[in-house]
Amino acid sequence: MSVVTITLPDGRSWTPKFVQNIDQDKCIGCGRCFRVCGREVLQLVGIDEDGAVIALELGADDDDEYEKKVMTVANEKNCVGCEACAKICPKKCYTHEAMAA
Ligand code: SF4
Ligand code: SF4
Repeated sequence: MSVVTITLPDGRSWTPKFVQNIDQDKCIGCGRCFRVCGREVLQLVGIDEDGAVIALELGADDDDEYEKKVMTVANEKNCVGCEACAKICPKKCYTHEAMAA
């Protein structure tokens, strides 16, 4: 299978790996990945005791209102496949894949 590759200015080839999934069982909602993503791909959400999912702002003082906070992929098409989010994640939540050409 051929995949999308980028030719760097010095002629080398680089294969971007695009975000596929964040394992919400492992995610602790720390926000590190959100901070390093420059493409507005990610969205922190709170899950309340009824299972309702509510979009949150990072750093908001609302810990009591949610059972759990997790990161989600909100704008997958914005991803440029840099994998910065996966590199910084302390819980290895991310799955990335190259895109078929
Ligand atoms: S791979 Fe890069 S662009 Fe894509 S979600 Fe992660 S940090 Fe953002
Ligand atoms: S860095 Fe990892 S653990 Fe922290 S919010 Fe992002 S996905 Fe969740």
